[in-house]
Amino acid sequence: MVTSARRARRSRAKDIQTLLILGASGDLTGRLLLPGLASLVTADRAPGLRLVGAGAESWTPSKWQRRLAKSLPLDADADATARWKELAATSVYHSLDVTAKGELAAFLKTLDGPVAVFFALPPRISQAACESLSPEDVPFGTRLVLEKPFGSDAASARELNETLRRLVPEDHIHRVDHFLGKGMVLNILGMRFANRFLEPLLNRDHVAEVEIIFDEDLALEGRAGYYDRAGALRDMIQSHLLQIMALMAMEPPATLHERDLRDGIATVLRASRVATPFRKNTRRARYTAGRISGRKVPDYVAEEGVDPDRLTETFAEVRLEINNSRWSGVPFILRSGKAMGTARKEAVVRFRPLAHLPAGFTGTDEPDELRIGFGPDTLSMTLDVTSAGNAFELSRAELTTELHSSALLPYGEVLDGVLHGDPLLSVRDDVAEDCWRIVDPVLSAWSHGRVPLEDYPAGSGGPAADA
Ligand code: NDP
Repeated sequence: MVTSARRARRSRAKDIQTLLILGASGDLTGRLLLPGLASLVTADRAPGLRLVGAGAESWTPSKWQRRLAKSLPLDADADATARWKELAATSVYHSLDVTAKGELAAFLKTLDGPVAVFFALPPRISQAACESLSPEDVPFGTRLVLEKPFGSDAASARELNETLRRLVPEDHIHRVDHFLGKGMVLNILGMRFANRFLEPLLNRDHVAEVEIIFDEDLALEGRAGYYDRAGALRDMIQSHLLQIMALMAMEPPATLHERDLRDGIATVLRASRVATPFRKNTRRARYTAGRISGRKVPDYVAEEGVDPDRLTETFAEVRLEINNSRWSGVPFILRSGKAMGTARKEAVVRFRPLAHLPAGFTGTDEPDELRIGFGPDTLSMTLDVTSAGNAFELSRAELTTELHSSALLPYGEVLDGVLHGDPLLSVRDDVAEDCWRIVDPVLSAWSHGRVPLEDYPAGSGGPAADA
């Protein structure tokens, strides 16, 4: 049913003929976007697509072709290789200053439409490029694809939305969150809404708390230029983790159509805010030198390109409340840290204790837990069961299954939606603003020093629990 609904949606939308990547010489394009496109093209999901790259500096055709060739997976078979080579053979690179008046507009007119314009540019350049366009410069059917961060606070996100809305309708604007792969979204919704014995329990009567954790064992990895101005709260929580929270907490949608799904996400986020006082309900910290799996990691502030005075956090934790009848009083704890000792990427639903355990049982009586692991996507339940050899003694058992994962890379899934006109995975305008509305007061409190910046050694489990 889902498949036929999606097919019907696709047949109504006119498929994109040309993908224009602005910022084609950049890091995002090389590391994520082109390999994602290659996963889509080699799976034969973008036949006939033309790819055009553009950057500020000029590139020789052979330099562009080398970049394309490097994006093909090493294990591609003959058919997959032939499909990618067919796309590469017609692909060209242009030098273009997108902020120069009229340059982007004139260039758009030369392309076979409909065109999808992917702004893989520094955020302020993307904004300037959009502002340089007027509605008549943008041919009918054009789709605009914007990267994160979408604005830097609620006001700037609103302004950017207004600029975009003047150019194309909302359903032709794709605000990318590559973290939300289609597989992950449907895994969460499937777990919640396709299981009779889970859905009735996921509410304030039965759930004590929900944690959504994204701890990385990677440190800065040379990305100071971007990260030192963003920090963990903006980089991970404002965008990705709030979206996961919305999927974990939303009401059941009537269908998996983008309108129902994105309405559900928007409604639950509108009911959400970070609990106060922030000194108690938020934490920020920065890693110091340490070791991760034997690898030496320098102090964050000693990394090239870091300005210690920015006080950028590499660890952020916020406790949210969702003020509706399903979740009132249940804390949602969102946390993300870099350079942590263990990579931990999961959502955990922790249930309330039992009302009464029959007297006679001994051993552990711990709250049940439901865990969704991200990458690889897994579902597990931790339950109390009786022990081997002593049926009166309780012990913990974990039932785990691996969930469906997509054959496409995350950016392949993003581009699949863009090319076929499906905004399901795109962040809607109101949601983009609301996610900033949720974190803006915390960012302001932190910037005024109202919550201390703690530290933690790289390779540890984060700042000390009692700090
Ligand atoms: P880079 O700095 O690596 O690349 C920037 C690109 O923009 C270059 O291709 C550059 O061209 C081009 N550019 C700059 N100014 C102009 C201009 N006036 N006209 C035309 N092209 C211009 O940035 P990233 O690739 O790292 O990031 C791009 C976007 O993606 C950002 O919004 C970032 O936040 C987002 N993002 C990045 C991620 C990543 O892992 N890198 C992950 C998630 C999001 P030239 O080289 O010719 O100067």
